[in-house]
Amino acid sequence: MSEDFYDVLGVSRDASKDQIKNAYRKKAAKYHPDVSDEDDAEEKFKKVQKAKEVLTDDETRQMYDQLGHERFQQAQKRGAGGGGGGRGQGNPFGGGGNPFGGMGGGGFEDIFNNLFNGGGGQRRNRPQQGRDVAQRISIDLEDAYHGIERDVTIRRREVCPECDGEGHPEDADVNTCSECNGSGQQTSVQQTPFGRVQQTTTCRACGGEGKTYSEDCSECRGSGRVRRTRDVTITIPAGFRDGQRLRYRGEGEPGENGGPNGDLFVEVNVRDHDEFDRDGDDLRYTHPISFPQAVFGATVDVPTLDGDEELKIPAGTQSGSTFTVSGAGMPHLDGRGHGDLHVEVHVVTPEDLNSDQREALKEFAEAGGEEVKEGLFQKLKNSL
Ligand SMILES: [Zn+2]
Ligand SMILES: [Zn+2]
Repeated sequence: MSEDFYDVLGVSRDASKDQIKNAYRKKAAKYHPDVSDEDDAEEKFKKVQKAKEVLTDDETRQMYDQLGHERFQQAQKRGAGGGGGGRGQGNPFGGGGNPFGGMGGGGFEDIFNNLFNGGGGQRRNRPQQGRDVAQRISIDLEDAYHGIERDVTIRRREVCPECDGEGHPEDADVNTCSECNGSGQQTSVQQTPFGRVQQTTTCRACGGEGKTYSEDCSECRGSGRVRRTRDVTITIPAGFRDGQRLRYRGEGEPGENGGPNGDLFVEVNVRDHDEFDRDGDDLRYTHPISFPQAVFGATVDVPTLDGDEELKIPAGTQSGSTFTVSGAGMPHLDGRGHGDLHVEVHVVTPEDLNSDQREALKEFAEAGGEEVKEGLFQKLKNSL
């Protein structure tokens, strides 16, 4: 879909706030990662969320309309640099508002960016949820039938174990930040076409803490976060379907400033099976039977994902008929019972007959009043 926020929501540029909210609800329901089977549902969901956030806030919508999508995104990227990927609580630009709404024109973008950088500082100290981590695994249909535990290897940022996320050794000397004199904030005054604007930004030297340390943690170089590869054991319940996702709350990356951890999403791909086709919780299978079995009826063994089952073929069965083995399909995810196995029988026409069989079949045909010409069987054979 187009990146433009109006297109993302499918609304016109003069849509009312209610129309935007309505459109958002519909799209969000469609792409919600917990319900949608679409490949990139999560990404689409995020876009829809973002579009709604920007367009339902009068100030940001005005900026968006004035700057256009590209420049708006660029401006936001620059502004969000310090804060990391926010998860969009309310106004995506942090506090501050925009005192220049409606003015536009020359110099607007620069001021806008500066405001962003200022806002970024406030964002820095705000609790933020950590990033989600996504992983994809493939399992066989048999695994989906029985349910299975799997170790998946994920890579994520974690709280540095060496410094407990502090970024410095415990015995490092603490100094008051000389840049901000311990306030954690820096104030600058800018001359703009609209007058003098005073901005308060988070101190770059100390990151807003007001303190500096004589030494950085050697493990994380002061960031308080390290990249780690982890094996996580996940449990895939019996009956899981292709494309469904498991969500492990708090197993993503650590939150900032006391915010909660992100989540781990594991998307499960269920491989196609050689013999069974899956149709929801039902399975389909094709079983060959002989002409006499079709004529006289028979009891045949058909495979299931849990051993062979007997299936009664009634006398006079036509090729292509389907029979159901109740409860021999996939388990229902709620743990209550199974789907069914649908067996389509195919009558196999023999390709090689010995002379006795040929004679018997000829008699069979003649007994039914069919005239059998010499060579017909040979022709039949050649045509197969
Ligand atoms: Zn400082
Ligand atoms: Zn560390």
